[in-house]
Amino acid sequence: MSKTSGIVENYLQIKLTIPDNVALIAVSKNHSVDSIERIYNTGHREFGENKVQELVDKYNQLPKDIKWHLIGHLQTNKVKYIAEFVEMIESADSRKILVEIDKQAAKYQRKIKVLLQIKIAEEETKYGLEIHEAKELYQEYLNGEFPNVEVKGLMGMATFTDDEQQLKKEFSLLKHLFDQLSHQNKLETLSMGMSDDYPIAISCGANSVRVGSAIFGKRS
Ligand SMILES: *Cc1c(COP(=O)(O)O)cnc(C)c1O
Repeated sequence: MSKTSGIVENYLQIKLTIPDNVALIAVSKNHSVDSIERIYNTGHREFGENKVQELVDKYNQLPKDIKWHLIGHLQTNKVKYIAEFVEMIESADSRKILVEIDKQAAKYQRKIKVLLQIKIAEEETKYGLEIHEAKELYQEYLNGEFPNVEVKGLMGMATFTDDEQQLKKEFSLLKHLFDQLSHQNKLETLSMGMSDDYPIAISCGANSVRVGSAIFGKRS
């Protein structure tokens, strides 16, 4: 089997195993425009990238009906490069970045969908809001701050481990916050789970998963 026919099979296989109500974001970072087109040609439209420059380059080369998700940490000075076209920013991890996304979205007279990224991993290196910060920000949003931002839900990355109990603990923590915040105003998207842990994430309530290497192969 050639490597490129492999990616379509990987994709179709994963689609078969996830429930219909769970969105699959194909994480194409470090993979070619050609590979993205192969998945696109199956009818898939939602792709994720973690770097602004790479996202902009791919946006310019690929069909304009792709829904691009920015999933990596975003610097405030780079929001302007993606504000016109990005479908969703999954990695809103500070008040400062929300302020900037709001400002840039206003320039294009649009609303940009975001997920609040929550720190759920025990590891120190991960970006994300503390739970109390997320609650405060969401309250501000409900009070009318950030009018050109639409907070659609939450995103989290678990610790890099194959300890299933640990993963379940972290995903369940995020699901709990999602339900809590949804009491005030219903949130739609709970994005958690990657190639190695998405089945566990789904079992804990994820309705959006970000899968890269299980589709496109290992990144070099
Ligand atoms: C790279 C990345 C993914 C996908 O990781 P895989 O292990 O390749 O599936 C998901 N989410 C974020 C935030 C990422 O940076």
